[in-house]
Amino acid sequence: MSCISNKKSALDLFEQDWELWFTENGGKRFNAKQLRNWLFVRNEFDPKKFSNLSPKMRESLENDFDWSLPAIDTVLSSTDGSDKILLRMQDGNLAECVLMPSEKRVTLCVSSQIGCRMACTFCQTGKMGLTRHLTAGEILAQIVIANLRLKEKGLTSKVTNIVFMGMGEPLDNYDNVVEACKTMLDPALFGLSKHRVTVSTSGLIPEIMRLGQDLPVALAISLHSADETQRSEMMPVNRKYPLADLKKALLEYPVQTRHGITFEYVMIKGKNDSVLHAKKLVKFLHGLKAKVNLIPLNRHPGNPMEAAETDALRAFQEYLSVRSIPAPVRYSRGQDVSAACGQLASKRQSELDLPPRTVALARRREYLDSKNH
Ligand code: SAH
Ligand code: SF4
Repeated sequence: MSCISNKKSALDLFEQDWELWFTENGGKRFNAKQLRNWLFVRNEFDPKKFSNLSPKMRESLENDFDWSLPAIDTVLSSTDGSDKILLRMQDGNLAECVLMPSEKRVTLCVSSQIGCRMACTFCQTGKMGLTRHLTAGEILAQIVIANLRLKEKGLTSKVTNIVFMGMGEPLDNYDNVVEACKTMLDPALFGLSKHRVTVSTSGLIPEIMRLGQDLPVALAISLHSADETQRSEMMPVNRKYPLADLKKALLEYPVQTRHGITFEYVMIKGKNDSVLHAKKLVKFLHGLKAKVNLIPLNRHPGNPMEAAETDALRAFQEYLSVRSIPAPVRYSRGQDVSAACGQLASKRQSELDLPPRTVALARRREYLDSKNH
């Protein structure tokens, strides 16, 4: 068991919090910027080494905060060059991220929650229920750890693209995700381009609308079916936020990228992979600037669903592309190391029998009940 520090994690303080701390502790407001530069640009987490701060200040910082990063539980390296990194948080919970370097960019797929309460039927994370949200600091720690790993591998590159496609529903953890994104976009810190931070959601409409006002990031919608009954069955969130309402919100969304909004469409054999489904999808997308990622289902134990066959994939893709909707087929990277959403963490979690699944299931039931009332 890990030892839980009762000090606040230094990663969970933001610009204003640090400004306040410094001014209350004999420092200057600008020390806040210097400190965050140590953490997020230089990846230095030992306050003794913060050489542009006074020795007294360094000592107070060391005493007042917890400077540890989440521990690395497991790293699985795939033959395709991606690394799946399983992190153990202070309280023992596991979260995963996937580092995917390619020639032109280094993409990191991050988690936003431990588990997820959206209960999509095809998703391993959905089976776990929600244990808890990740803090903004825990989300940012995934980037720091990924950058340290790149350095360890002798690479000079850093993470250039972030996709919120690991465990969890990012818009169900709105405040922490937005706070973390602000640090990602801050030119003095991670300095990522707004086109290169993608928030993926199952379709929480009020939060999609808030996000459009609050933050210039790219948006991905996990659609998976444009048939109302089928989507409600695959994704319970659709019962609360049906397709017509989702579309209305998307038509109003201030799009940040050239290709518009990305739609994720998991292709499941004999379920949502026919030309009739493609036709419904085209109808749904009418009027929206859209790109569709077709993702053959990643199978996981205990779930009888299978990935769509190549012929069905091709016919579906063809139907979209002749109607000018780009629809690349995306295979999840790191298939050989359980890289699909939540697979590794849930496997490891049950091995370790850490935090009681009953709690997670109870939370999920609570959520479903609250939706029914
Ligand atoms: N909760 C958010 C983001 C995390 S899931 C969302 O749903 O968008 C990231 C992506 O992985 C989503 O598009 C999700 O639908 C997809 N996914 C989940 N289970 C999958 C599986 N078994 N095979 C392929 N993709 C899957
Ligand atoms: Fe949650 Fe996304 Fe999985 Fe649905 S697909 S259960 S929203 S993580």
